[in-house]
Amino acid sequence: MSQKVYVTYNQVHKLCQASADKILNEFHPNLMIAIGGGGYVPARILRSFLKRSGDPNIPIQAIGLSLYEDLGRGDPEEVPGTKVTRTQWLDLSSLEMANLIGKNILIVDEVDDTRTTLEYAVRELQKDVELAQKQLGREGEKTTFSIFVLHNKDKSKKGVLPADMMESGHYHAAVTTDDVWICYPWEAKDIDEHDALAKENPLI
Ligand code: 5GP
Repeated sequence: MSQKVYVTYNQVHKLCQASADKILNEFHPNLMIAIGGGGYVPARILRSFLKRSGDPNIPIQAIGLSLYEDLGRGDPEEVPGTKVTRTQWLDLSSLEMANLIGKNILIVDEVDDTRTTLEYAVRELQKDVELAQKQLGREGEKTTFSIFVLHNKDKSKKGVLPADMMESGHYHAAVTTDDVWICYPWEAKDIDEHDALAKENPLI
């Protein structure tokens, strides 16, 4: 079992805050897609820091992808699977997909581990948007995807992201970590114990 480290809500908040300006230097998102469940809280916090005065709130859409299999034994560390399962996806009706075309879309997840999930999300979202563009005759409009994660594990990755995304600063990790198991506060059953463990086993 890999080493466990604990991250608090406060730290997550500050990581989002510290990342917002860096994201805005490269990219002004007009839509966020949170990968559930770990991307939901970071996406919501980040939105507060990305909002510019006078602009409306950036909408957040949700998709659910599962790679890790919960063994149901109350252990926060789960066992990696090999296949990404969609538990929730976008509404693919042309009315809804039209909202994505030509936009700057920020995909948010909590952690980039093997990168399998992010590869799947980017590839499938790009495919769906391209199909909608064709169907709606809007091929000329450029839709750009960017990624934000709280933590990127420094390890060899199974998944691959488009080279232009990586080279153009459209991938942002708040922190690069060793290959440890990160326990996030929203997974905690006892948040006081979690925060105490975070003091003993800090990541940052
Ligand atoms: P990947 O596809 O990059 O291997 O894994 C992505 C997903 O696996 C994440 O969205 C997350 O749900 C889960 N995961 C991978 N590593 C960790 C970790 O260290 N801590 C937690 N809590 N989840 C992780």
